[in-house]
Amino acid sequence: MTVTRFAPSPTGYLHIGNLRTALFNYLIARKAGGQFILRLDDTDPERSKPEYADAIKEDLEWLGLVWDRVETQSVRLDRYEAAADELRAMGRFYECFETPVELDLKRKKQLNMGRPPVYDRAALALLEAEKDALRAERGAGHWRFKLDHQRIEWTDGILGDRSIDAASVSDPVLIRGDGQFLYTLASVCDDIDFGITDVVRGSDHVTNTATQIQIISALGGTVPGFAHHSLLTGPKGEALSKRLGTLSLRDMRARGVEPMALLSLMARLGSSDPVEVFGTIDELVAGFDITHFGASPTKFDEDDLDPLSARFLSSLDFGDVAAQIAALGVPKAIAPKFWDVVRDNIGVRAEMADWWSLFRDGARPLVTDENREFVAEAFAMLPEMPFDSDTWGNWTAAVKEKTGRKGRGLFMPLRHAVTGRERGPEMADVMALMQVAPKL
Ligand code: GLU
Repeated sequence: MTVTRFAPSPTGYLHIGNLRTALFNYLIARKAGGQFILRLDDTDPERSKPEYADAIKEDLEWLGLVWDRVETQSVRLDRYEAAADELRAMGRFYECFETPVELDLKRKKQLNMGRPPVYDRAALALLEAEKDALRAERGAGHWRFKLDHQRIEWTDGILGDRSIDAASVSDPVLIRGDGQFLYTLASVCDDIDFGITDVVRGSDHVTNTATQIQIISALGGTVPGFAHHSLLTGPKGEALSKRLGTLSLRDMRARGVEPMALLSLMARLGSSDPVEVFGTIDELVAGFDITHFGASPTKFDEDDLDPLSARFLSSLDFGDVAAQIAALGVPKAIAPKFWDVVRDNIGVRAEMADWWSLFRDGARPLVTDENREFVAEAFAMLPEMPFDSDTWGNWTAAVKEKTGRKGRGLFMPLRHAVTGRERGPEMADVMALMQVAPKL
């Protein structure tokens, strides 16, 4: 069975980059009829916060990306310890005592000599007595996994055939000096234990993948399929990493972005398939194919979301929004008509309330000085309430006859005066929905 996972660290709010990863893993699981696990990578006790874990769940729920179960790394430390013991017993795990400053110095020297800054394995040569002395002096060391110096190969679901020379990569640190397990080991244990079959994540993880393939094999696990999606950039190709904080999913929710608009865009952006606005997640699932995604950076423009949200809203049936419209206080008898009239004139749901307040209370008229007299004259000719779908036609015909105005010069000042806006739905529809007569 296909099992995927989305594995955010609860150290902040989810942003658009995280969404890409979450969505791909979700769609792969659903398309295969498999399972989608939400895994909280919270081995860093200082930076991980329960409120961020809650916020992650809330954001995924808002999007409708429902997980089958949640797993939490911080309750699995015994398992990681056991895996570390296994690696020690195999001679694949060794303790190192270099300080960050010393490591930095080594890297600089290597770079100066034109060599790749790969850890030199100096700690492998330490005698037990030397380690004891270092431990006494510096405290517990950090632990590195000893890579097998072979080529590591896999066929990536997006990048195709990949081959990385293990000798070009530093032996990864799996346990820090303070005893904290690092994600690299925890993730491998989890992927093995939870039977993860497919891992989709950002291309910033490609080197991790190489080392994790060796760790999985050392621990006797089955290597899952890997796919690395490209990273998002801003609309001009600029790095997004610094701006990601401002592209949080909760900010988008707050400004009224429709979840299906966001999901529809992200399920297609960077692929050879066109962006379509899908009505349901099931349609997204059906139309998704990870092999259609390319390796080059993907441009994301937040402004693209607004027209997609508008298109999604206009595609909704009255039944989809009936409860929300009722909550605004729109009388049942006119609610379907209300939706028909506003559906193509809103970018976000909150704008329904603006239209309703116009119909219920009237607008502050938008009138230029030169049109003031004309509008006053026209308003004096308005028929008695209630208005209906003939009101606009009859009224403007009468005003035309009386004032001699016609075309835009007739209709535009009246539209602006009645609605207080530059544009909007057909005026015949607007007039039929007005609950009070417009006034100057
Ligand atoms: N917690 C890791 C991250 O957010 C997970 C990476 C992975 O999918 O393995 O980068």
